[in-house]
Amino acid sequence: MKKLFLIISFSAPLILSAQDIVYIKVFAHLKIESVTFSVEKSTYSVLGDEKSILKNNSSIMLKLTAVNDSVEVKSFETVYGRFKTVRFADENSGGEMKIKLISPDRKQRIYPDNYVVTTETGNLKLLNEAKLDAYIAGVVEAESGTRSTPEFYKVQAILARTFALAHLNKHLPEGFSLCDQVHCQAYYGKPRFEGISEMVAETKGKVVVDENLNLIVAAFHSNSGGQTANSEDVWGTRTSYLKSVNDTFSLRMPNYKWERKMAIDDWLSYLKLKHKYPIDEPSAKELALNFKQDTRKIFLEASNVKVPLKNVRQDLQLKSTYFNIYKDGDSVVFEGKGYGHSLGMSQEGAMRMTKLGYTYTEVLNFYYRNIQIIDMNKLAFFRDE
Ligand SMILES: [Zn+2]
Repeated sequence: MKKLFLIISFSAPLILSAQDIVYIKVFAHLKIESVTFSVEKSTYSVLGDEKSILKNNSSIMLKLTAVNDSVEVKSFETVYGRFKTVRFADENSGGEMKIKLISPDRKQRIYPDNYVVTTETGNLKLLNEAKLDAYIAGVVEAESGTRSTPEFYKVQAILARTFALAHLNKHLPEGFSLCDQVHCQAYYGKPRFEGISEMVAETKGKVVVDENLNLIVAAFHSNSGGQTANSEDVWGTRTSYLKSVNDTFSLRMPNYKWERKMAIDDWLSYLKLKHKYPIDEPSAKELALNFKQDTRKIFLEASNVKVPLKNVRQDLQLKSTYFNIYKDGDSVVFEGKGYGHSLGMSQEGAMRMTKLGYTYTEVLNFYYRNIQIIDMNKLAFFRDE
């Protein structure tokens, strides 16, 4: 599920360094006391405050612990000391480190490229210094699983790259580019399914821009219910590309339909108390108990009272705003379609398109209007003009 971002217009993003490196804070939601690092692939050097601890070694296995505002580095037999910054540097290319959190205890994960460990309010701060596409591959798997079509992975890769470039300075004041949580993009390290990295490589450098060459807000959701929404109806901000489209590809997919039952009294009280909806007027009450959306509506509206459906969705934790309501005994049934905010790409619809043979270009042009897919290096070129 995609988070809501309200920043629609972007200033120019940070320009990536020559090797397209991003700094991702991993396990960003945890207070980490200790962790072990071991080499999975390649040879690494370890530096403590820029001084060499271990050199060009393929069997590194170190435990790092936060001690006040320092990082203590130990192996089974040696204490190497305490440092402000510990750096794991891949001496070749394509290196991988195994990271196992000890406290708190978490399952081991494998991360690409380099690592920088410092402290932050007495805990360890782990930054994965990764090549952009290695990071994108991890995001693609975290956002779309291991059982999608190759073409769908390409779509998701281009959107993840677009998002990453648009938000490189999201955590700049905290000293990194992006976090590994849904706040930015979910990232759990190297994908388990090897094929994903190949698909990411096939879209190398590609990003989506609007007609003014601004990176788009790469919004996507699980299922549109058959019609996506306009950004102004969900976020209150108009864009040239997040436009409502009729999406038959999402029909009959797993998250196409949902249902929710609620006591009539609870529903009417909610409308009255939260929205001052006139439930005492017979026609307004009737509408609240028999509400139809053949195409998406934005409000439940009676006697000049407009109840925003997005608020109803949020308050009642419904899967979407695209629902009908009917009476069933002393209950109302919400008969809903779709899952998510319904902006931009429907993941299930896009998946279906790729299964029917549509290319990533066709999928992106279907769900985002007036866009271009261009190379991010060209974007920098145009910006410099
Ligand atoms: Zn974040």
